[in-house]
Amino acid sequence: MATHKVGGEVDAFCTRCKLTLAHTILAMVGTKIVRVRCNTCGGDHVYRSAPGTTDRPSASSRSTTARSAGTPRAERPEKVVISFEEQLAGKDIANAPKYSPKDAYQLDQVIQHPTFGLGLVTAVRGDKVDIAFKSETKTLVHGRSGGPAERPAFHPPSARSTGPADKPVAPSTTEAAPTSPTSAPPAEE
Ligand SMILES: [Zn+2]
Repeated sequence: MATHKVGGEVDAFCTRCKLTLAHTILAMVGTKIVRVRCNTCGGDHVYRSAPGTTDRPSASSRSTTARSAGTPRAERPEKVVISFEEQLAGKDIANAPKYSPKDAYQLDQVIQHPTFGLGLVTAVRGDKVDIAFKSETKTLVHGRSGGPAERPAFHPPSARSTGPADKPVAPSTTEAAPTSPTSAPPAEE
Protein backbone atom coordinates (compact mmCIF):
# COMPACT_ATOMS: atom_id res chain seq x y z
CA MET A 1 0.00 0.00 0.00
CA ALA A 2 0.97 3.58 -0.46
CA THR A 3 2.89 5.10 2.41
CA HIS A 4 0.91 7.84 4.10
CA LYS A 5 2.33 10.63 6.18
CA VAL A 6 0.92 13.54 8.09
CA GLY A 7 0.20 16.41 5.72
CA GLY A 8 -0.22 14.06 2.80
CA GLU A 9 -3.40 13.25 0.99
CA VAL A 10 -5.62 10.25 1.28
CA ASP A 11 -9.00 9.32 -0.02
CA ALA A 12 -11.44 8.91 2.84
CA PHE A 13 -15.11 8.95 3.45
CA CYS A 14 -16.29 12.37 4.61
CA THR A 15 -19.14 12.12 7.07
CA ARG A 16 -20.37 15.59 6.14
CA CYS A 17 -20.08 15.37 2.38
CA LYS A 18 -21.27 11.74 2.41
CA LEU A 19 -18.70 11.09 -0.25
CA THR A 20 -15.30 9.58 -0.61
CA LEU A 21 -13.06 12.58 -1.12
CA ALA A 22 -9.48 13.69 -0.90
CA HIS A 23 -8.49 14.43 2.67
CA THR A 24 -5.36 15.83 4.24
CA ILE A 25 -3.89 13.59 6.88
CA LEU A 26 -3.80 15.35 10.23
CA ALA A 27 -2.64 12.60 12.55
CA MET A 28 -1.25 9.12 12.32
CA VAL A 29 -0.41 6.35 14.72
CA GLY A 30 2.32 4.29 13.24
CA THR A 31 1.20 3.56 9.69
CA LYS A 32 -2.44 4.04 10.58
CA ILE A 33 -4.26 7.25 9.72
CA VAL A 34 -6.39 8.41 12.63
CA ARG A 35 -7.48 11.92 11.77
CA VAL A 36 -8.05 13.71 8.50
CA ARG A 37 -9.37 17.00 7.17
CA CYS A 38 -11.76 17.01 4.25
CA ASN A 39 -10.31 19.03 1.39
CA THR A 40 -13.83 19.77 0.20
CA CYS A 41 -15.67 20.94 3.30
CA GLY A 42 -12.64 21.57 5.51
CA GLY A 43 -14.07 19.52 8.36
CA ASP A 44 -11.82 17.49 10.65
CA HIS A 45 -12.93 14.02 11.50
CA VAL A 46 -11.74 10.56 12.32
CA TYR A 47 -10.34 8.78 9.33
CA ARG A 48 -12.66 6.20 7.85
CA SER A 49 -11.74 4.36 4.79
CA ALA A 50 -14.71 4.15 2.54
CA PRO A 51 -15.96 0.58 2.29
CA GLY A 52 -14.08 -1.20 -0.41
CA THR A 53 -12.37 1.94 -1.58
CA THR A 54 -8.97 1.79 0.08
CA ASP A 55 -8.02 -1.78 -0.53
CA ARG A 56 -9.61 -2.36 -3.86
CA PRO A 57 -8.67 -0.65 -7.08
CA SER A 58 -11.42 1.57 -8.38
CA ALA A 59 -11.36 -0.48 -11.57
CA SER A 60 -13.48 -3.13 -9.91
CA SER A 61 -16.42 -0.78 -9.66
CA ARG A 62 -15.82 0.37 -13.20
CA SER A 63 -15.79 -3.12 -14.63
CA THR A 64 -19.18 -3.75 -13.10
CA THR A 65 -20.51 -0.73 -14.93
CA ALA A 66 -18.87 -1.77 -18.15
CA ARG A 67 -20.27 -5.25 -17.87
CA SER A 68 -23.84 -4.08 -17.48
CA ALA A 69 -23.39 -1.64 -20.32
CA GLY A 70 -21.94 -4.36 -22.48
CA THR A 71 -24.93 -6.64 -22.11
CA PRO A 72 -27.21 -4.92 -24.61
CA ARG A 73 -24.25 -4.47 -26.92
CA ALA A 74 -23.73 -8.22 -27.00
CA GLU A 75 -26.95 -8.64 -28.95
CA ARG A 76 -25.65 -6.62 -31.86
CA PRO A 77 -23.31 -9.16 -33.44
CA GLU A 78 -26.35 -11.28 -34.26
CA LYS A 79 -27.55 -8.57 -36.59
CA VAL A 80 -24.37 -8.66 -38.65
CA VAL A 81 -25.15 -9.39 -42.26
CA ILE A 82 -24.82 -13.06 -42.98
CA SER A 83 -22.00 -13.81 -45.35
CA PHE A 84 -22.73 -15.11 -48.79
CA GLU A 85 -21.33 -18.52 -47.93
CA GLU A 86 -23.55 -18.72 -44.86
CA GLN A 87 -26.59 -17.83 -46.94
CA LEU A 88 -25.86 -20.72 -49.25
CA ALA A 89 -24.91 -23.06 -46.43
CA GLY A 90 -28.34 -24.58 -46.01
CA LYS A 91 -29.19 -24.58 -49.69
CA ASP A 92 -29.14 -27.40 -52.17
CA ILE A 93 -26.13 -26.14 -54.09
CA ALA A 94 -25.39 -29.49 -55.69
CA ASN A 95 -28.70 -29.40 -57.54
CA ALA A 96 -28.59 -25.71 -58.37
CA PRO A 97 -29.86 -25.36 -61.94
CA LYS A 98 -27.96 -23.34 -64.50
CA TYR A 99 -29.49 -19.95 -64.99
CA SER A 100 -31.61 -19.57 -68.09
CA PRO A 101 -34.00 -16.73 -68.84
CA LYS A 102 -36.44 -19.37 -70.06
CA ASP A 103 -36.70 -21.04 -66.65
CA ALA A 104 -38.84 -19.67 -63.86
CA TYR A 105 -37.28 -19.28 -60.44
CA GLN A 106 -38.63 -18.90 -56.98
CA LEU A 107 -37.55 -17.16 -53.80
CA ASP A 108 -34.54 -18.64 -51.99
CA GLN A 109 -33.68 -20.84 -54.92
CA VAL A 110 -30.00 -21.33 -55.67
CA ILE A 111 -28.92 -21.09 -59.27
CA GLN A 112 -25.65 -21.42 -61.11
CA HIS A 113 -24.85 -18.53 -63.42
CA PRO A 114 -22.21 -19.03 -66.13
CA THR A 115 -20.68 -15.60 -65.41
CA PHE A 116 -21.51 -14.73 -61.81
CA GLY A 117 -21.37 -18.20 -60.28
CA LEU A 118 -23.67 -19.37 -57.55
CA GLY A 119 -26.55 -17.06 -56.82
CA LEU A 120 -29.44 -16.95 -54.42
CA VAL A 121 -32.83 -15.66 -55.54
CA THR A 122 -33.71 -12.87 -53.13
CA ALA A 123 -36.78 -11.44 -54.86
CA VAL A 124 -39.21 -12.37 -57.60
CA ARG A 125 -41.00 -9.57 -59.45
CA GLY A 126 -43.04 -10.78 -62.37
CA ASP A 127 -40.62 -11.78 -65.10
CA LYS A 128 -37.61 -10.45 -63.17
CA VAL A 129 -35.66 -11.97 -60.32
CA ASP A 130 -33.10 -10.41 -58.01
CA ILE A 131 -30.26 -12.83 -57.56
CA ALA A 132 -27.56 -12.27 -54.96
CA PHE A 133 -24.19 -13.35 -56.20
CA LYS A 134 -20.99 -13.33 -54.21
CA SER A 135 -19.91 -9.93 -55.48
CA GLU A 136 -23.21 -8.21 -56.13
CA THR A 137 -26.93 -8.60 -56.64
CA LYS A 138 -28.18 -8.80 -60.22
CA THR A 139 -31.65 -8.39 -61.60
CA LEU A 140 -32.23 -11.00 -64.27
CA VAL A 141 -35.18 -12.05 -66.33
CA HIS A 142 -36.79 -15.42 -65.90
CA GLY A 143 -39.84 -17.33 -67.00
CA ARG A 144 -39.31 -16.27 -70.61
CA SER A 145 -40.42 -19.58 -72.03
CA GLY A 146 -39.19 -19.30 -75.57
CA GLY A 147 -39.59 -15.54 -75.49
CA PRO A 148 -42.67 -13.49 -76.41
CA ALA A 149 -42.13 -13.95 -80.13
CA GLU A 150 -42.40 -17.72 -79.94
CA ARG A 151 -45.21 -17.78 -77.42
CA PRO A 152 -48.03 -18.14 -80.03
CA ALA A 153 -46.43 -21.41 -81.08
CA PHE A 154 -47.72 -23.00 -77.87
CA HIS A 155 -51.28 -22.09 -78.73
CA PRO A 156 -52.78 -23.44 -81.95
CA PRO A 157 -54.09 -20.72 -84.21
CA SER A 158 -57.57 -19.61 -83.32
CA ALA A 159 -60.69 -21.28 -84.69
CA ARG A 160 -60.89 -18.71 -87.46
CA SER A 161 -57.98 -20.30 -89.31
CA THR A 162 -58.56 -23.91 -88.29
CA GLY A 163 -60.09 -24.94 -91.57
CA PRO A 164 -58.28 -22.96 -94.24
CA ALA A 165 -54.88 -22.93 -92.42
CA ASP A 166 -53.22 -25.09 -95.05
CA LYS A 167 -54.70 -23.29 -97.98
CA PRO A 168 -53.33 -19.98 -99.15
CA VAL A 169 -55.37 -17.27 -97.58
CA ALA A 170 -56.70 -14.53 -99.73
CA PRO A 171 -54.00 -11.80 -99.92
CA SER A 172 -56.46 -9.01 -99.38
CA THR A 173 -57.62 -10.40 -95.98
CA THR A 174 -54.13 -11.09 -94.60
CA GLU A 175 -52.41 -7.88 -95.63
CA ALA A 176 -55.24 -5.56 -94.84
CA ALA A 177 -55.10 -6.07 -91.07
CA PRO A 178 -51.42 -5.39 -90.28
CA THR A 179 -50.62 -2.79 -92.96
CA SER A 180 -53.62 -0.52 -92.98
CA PRO A 181 -52.96 1.09 -89.53
CA THR A 182 -49.42 2.07 -90.56
CA SER A 183 -50.26 3.28 -94.06
CA ALA A 184 -53.33 5.27 -93.14
CA PRO A 185 -51.92 7.90 -90.67
CA PRO A 186 -49.44 9.57 -93.10
CA ALA A 187 -52.39 10.83 -95.06
CA GLU A 188 -53.25 13.19 -92.22
CA GLU A 189 -49.92 15.02 -92.23
ZN1 LIG B 1 -16.26 16.90 3.59
